[in-house]
Amino acid sequence: MKKFDAYAWEKEELEKIKALPNKPSLLLHSCCAVCNSYPLEYLADFFDITLLYNNHNLYPEIEYDIRLHELNAYVDRFNQRSGQTVKIVPYDIKRDEYHETYLAKRADDKEGYGRCRMCYALRMNEAMRYASEHHFDYVSTVMTISRQKNSAFINDIARRLMPAYPDLKYFYSNFKKNKGIDRSVEIAKEEKMYQQQYCGCLYSYLDAKQKGKDVDHRTYPFDKG
Ligand code: SF4
Repeated sequence: MKKFDAYAWEKEELEKIKALPNKPSLLLHSCCAVCNSYPLEYLADFFDITLLYNNHNLYPEIEYDIRLHELNAYVDRFNQRSGQTVKIVPYDIKRDEYHETYLAKRADDKEGYGRCRMCYALRMNEAMRYASEHHFDYVSTVMTISRQKNSAFINDIARRLMPAYPDLKYFYSNFKKNKGIDRSVEIAKEEKMYQQQYCGCLYSYLDAKQKGKDVDHRTYPFDKG
């Protein structure tokens, strides 16, 4: 069977959207400012975008707060300079429940495999449910920009989950393409963004700490604006 080319699909879909009289609405699951940087720049002319910050996986609590703070600050600056009106919805956080019910049961999984696929699927499904309940036209996730995340896994999860949401369309993506990764690195530097040293959960935090990465945040300047 021919491999699905998400980037080709993406370009074709954007051409169709360009021909519409009005921008469709898009709910984008968002994990942090760095991963949003290029997708926002790329998609904002095509969609009326709302970001859903649903990241129960983030450990410790301050990591959740820092990433949300950075996302808010970046989106404010992005809206000001582009004239766009991107909004952010922080979803109800259920960190302990998420950890106990899901992550802790797959504690020994290697990063990028079983536990991570479950973690992508849970948060993507929440985004789909939210988008469907709030009558968005499209839903997607920024996670395909990450070097550590396999875009094909993510698109495949979307394909399996979407039949439960017949009124909604999934925007398949491979944001790594079109030099998306390079551009996100460039924007993160220009914007002096906080760049986390681990994916998010307790296990990725411990793993990064063991490798000597700086994962503690005691000096994060929340008032830097
Ligand atoms: S490493 Fe990242 S994707 Fe995998 S379970 Fe932890 S937070 Fe979720």
